[in-house]
Amino acid sequence: MLLTITTTHSPASDLGYLLHKHPERSQSFDLSFGKVHVFYPEVGLERCSACLLLDVDPVGLVRGKNASASFLLAQYVNDRPYAASSFMSVAIARVFGSALQGRCKDRPDLAALPIPLSARIDVLPVRGGERFLRNVFEPLGYAVDATRCPLDERFPEWGESPYFAVTVQKSTTLADLLTHLYVLIPVFDNAKHYWIGDDEMEKLLAKGEGWLAGHPEKEEITRRYLKFQPSLFREALARLVQEEEPQEAEDDERRVEPEEALEKPLSLNDQRLGSVVAALRASGAKRVLDLGCGEAKLIRELLKEKQFEEIVGLDVSIRSLEVAQRRLKLERLPTKQAERIKLLHGSLMYRDKRLDGFDAAAVVEVVEHLDPPRLSAFERVLFEFAKPRTVVLTTPNREFNVKWESLGAGRFRHPDHRFEWTRHEFQAWANGIAERFGYTVRFVAVGPEDEKLGPPTQMAIFEVAK
Ligand code: SAH
Repeated sequence: MLLTITTTHSPASDLGYLLHKHPERSQSFDLSFGKVHVFYPEVGLERCSACLLLDVDPVGLVRGKNASASFLLAQYVNDRPYAASSFMSVAIARVFGSALQGRCKDRPDLAALPIPLSARIDVLPVRGGERFLRNVFEPLGYAVDATRCPLDERFPEWGESPYFAVTVQKSTTLADLLTHLYVLIPVFDNAKHYWIGDDEMEKLLAKGEGWLAGHPEKEEITRRYLKFQPSLFREALARLVQEEEPQEAEDDERRVEPEEALEKPLSLNDQRLGSVVAALRASGAKRVLDLGCGEAKLIRELLKEKQFEEIVGLDVSIRSLEVAQRRLKLERLPTKQAERIKLLHGSLMYRDKRLDGFDAAAVVEVVEHLDPPRLSAFERVLFEFAKPRTVVLTTPNREFNVKWESLGAGRFRHPDHRFEWTRHEFQAWANGIAERFGYTVRFVAVGPEDEKLGPPTQMAIFEVAK
């Protein structure tokens, strides 16, 4: 099995430093399941490639303590010698260990620098097909090129195999690329892994830090990685969910959220929902999205209006979606009503084809939960790709916070808010979006307006410019 890593960074031969392997020498290492060789088929200033060739010894495997196949012949006749699997990940960790950790003794600056990189895996077994392959790599920002291999070139009538030649490409650090490969190769393979052990989950969480929690396929990735250990899967997922959503104490239905308690005397929540429903109604929309739908408060209101024929809620938090499902009592609704609603698990950080083709989207009290450096990803996902005709978006007006005595100075309304905008800040952001993505925007005050401080909630209504 062969992995080729290529860079067009200048000078490309820096790859030798990054991998801690000299470009002019070919090296071999013994592993318990075979041999691994590292060599550079191409070394130049503009382009440099390093290969990791893994030569698994299937007979040695059977004789060794790692025997795993269930029937006798399969122990000898299997795809382990040539298809990328967890053996490849183990080899990456053993042979490119420092690079995987992002360490580069001679050139630490280089290790931290995103450079144009590609990785080609000649034979990757992809259970789940090309769509799963793309769903896993594309949200991480990779361009994916995949060619399916025929089962046997001499017998085309046998059809396709589950094997792909895959190249993924991205400007990133070598450590990030190797980390993604290390975790994901065994996930595609989805066979019994070589390394099943007690520290499996810790490895996954450590290597998944910073990218797995927000990944739309995190459940499937985690499930497959920890395939034979359902209890580990549940625990890992719970810990990932915590990493992504510190606000998740919302789970307890009886507990009043700080934001809600604070705003209660004004019943601001009801006024906000009323304003959003009115704006959606006025837009003439029939198919609407509720992005960051939380526990489906808006969806319940939308359901009361016949105009909305299809209502799709999306949220990154599985627990919120579970509460939403319960509160909507979907299973008790008449079929016709229930069919109008769909709940999706996904993140607004990633382009998502399921959001294409809607008339309108509501984004109610969600942007302030997104990290500022990732806002631009959200903007493109919604306004460039999903591109509904109308977007109704609300967020707190920070200026109004001084009116709430119980809220300490400088504090936000909810512990998970990453920021709260003044009217000027919000309008500048919204106007920028309108200009960049071809929308018009107008602003509506929600809740009792203070002469100086403005309203507690600010709402923007975007419409695709004619
Ligand atoms: N719109 C709802 C919930 C607001 S709370 C209401 O008005 O009641 C913010 C919601 O945004 C939470 O449910 C949170 O899980 C969700 N959220 C946060 N980051 C997200 C992301 N990246 N993608 C999708 N939803 C996200």
